[in-house]
Amino acid sequence: MEELKLLKTLYEQRFLGYKYFNDIKSTSSEDSDTLDMPSSLLDLQAYINDCSLCNLAKGRNNIVFGEGNPHADIMFVGEGPGELEDNSGRPFVGRAGELLNRIIENVLMLKREEVYIANIVKCRPPANRAPTEEEAHKCKPFLIKQIEIVKPKIIVALGSTSYRYLTGDVDSKISRIRGEMINFKSSRLMPTFHPSYLLRNPSAKREVLSDMLKVKAIL
Ligand code: URA
Repeated sequence: MEELKLLKTLYEQRFLGYKYFNDIKSTSSEDSDTLDMPSSLLDLQAYINDCSLCNLAKGRNNIVFGEGNPHADIMFVGEGPGELEDNSGRPFVGRAGELLNRIIENVLMLKREEVYIANIVKCRPPANRAPTEEEAHKCKPFLIKQIEIVKPKIIVALGSTSYRYLTGDVDSKISRIRGEMINFKSSRLMPTFHPSYLLRNPSAKREVLSDMLKVKAIL
């Protein structure tokens, strides 16, 4: 069993670009995992084109890498692609995406093309379930690399799954932590409600408006 685990880790490390290492790491979510990755978004996208690090690869139609301004001041991070995103290969193109677009345009006064949009996982979880810890941790180095390349001033974590997997804070409830700007690597991070939650709970738009005004104020 231990040997199988070790072999799996070796395959992961090789996929992530390692040729030699002294130390076997059992997870691949730390920043050092991004060291050997390509340093442009286009090359990074090509690098993960055949990714099969987790089971989500089996059911996907497209990898939803992320899109937007490679020098954006704001990066939005959602949870994972839904059906429309999986079919199109683009993040946030469904109803939640339309609402996100309205927030970007009407509150932040920006065009969608001016921000960068990505997700915690790049392949669609079946039946739109939340990504598992393993799926999120396998995919996290790619997101961290995207953040390192884009260098946004502010990352907006959309919903509790995004906030939790980005920060590792498993204790705080999104309803309590939202609206509190925190330091995250070289950026600030603003947790707020996910647009899908807003579609189900329109009255929470008030809180998101207040969170986005704080984001706008520091741009
Ligand atoms: N919800 C997400 O979290 N991400 C998408 O890309 C679409 C819907």
